[in-house]
Amino acid sequence: MKLKIIGCGEAFDKQFGNNSSLLLGPTQNILFDCGYQIPERIWRDESFSDSNFIDAIFLSHAHADHTFGMPALLHSMKDNKRKKELVIFGNRGIKKYLVKICALAYPKFNICSLPFKISFKELKGGDTFKWRGLKFSCIKIAHAVPNLMVRIDLQSKSKSKSKSKSKSLAISGDGKLTKKSFAKICDVDFLLQEVFTFDVNLPFHTNLLELLELFELFKLSKIKLTGITHINQLHRKKVEEYICNDNSYISVRPGDIISI
Ligand SMILES: [Zn+2]
Repeated sequence: MKLKIIGCGEAFDKQFGNNSSLLLGPTQNILFDCGYQIPERIWRDESFSDSNFIDAIFLSHAHADHTFGMPALLHSMKDNKRKKELVIFGNRGIKKYLVKICALAYPKFNICSLPFKISFKELKGGDTFKWRGLKFSCIKIAHAVPNLMVRIDLQSKSKSKSKSKSKSLAISGDGKLTKKSFAKICDVDFLLQEVFTFDVNLPFHTNLLELLELFELFKLSKIKLTGITHINQLHRKKVEEYICNDNSYISVRPGDIISI
């Protein structure tokens, strides 16, 4: 599996765009979050030139910097003659929410009657399910609106069970990582984690010192690499300076591709 970073900024980032990434799986391409700065980045990326390229979209939460690119993206799929079914994963109520914002954006644009089918899968924290060979585990982490962190496990096929290797990653969306939520993802190969500030304690975001403290608490954590994303512009320099000499953390950039 590979994870391509589309954007890695906070909501109003001047440079790096909204927080969004694309999972390139063995048989599935999944976009994670689609804020208002994302469609243009997607259209400029040649991988997306086929309107059927994205199989599914996972929306972590209903904030504009994670969802307001959806009307334009879905409309462009229609205009570019998409035929393939699109699966949309999101919190409970995501279908109603998307119907509403798409109709506000384009009054005659009804996403329930497109030439391609959209299947919605509405989720809550604690849900687990399998889809196209991937196991999804949803973890609710505290944010101003319900936010789903997602863990994805891929079991590779091998004739010998002892040789089969699983690969896994977790993507935080926005929110406060706690001991309880960290325990559910502390053995993934790659974690894409929002770090909003260096040390300012906020109820709905994780800061860098809190994240490092969790790694300290879970000394047996098997996470090989943590990608830091969604850094507040005022804290970016300090966060990046602090982690720059530690190979287990990277501050991701648009265009980065992480092999998992
Ligand atoms: Zn948010």
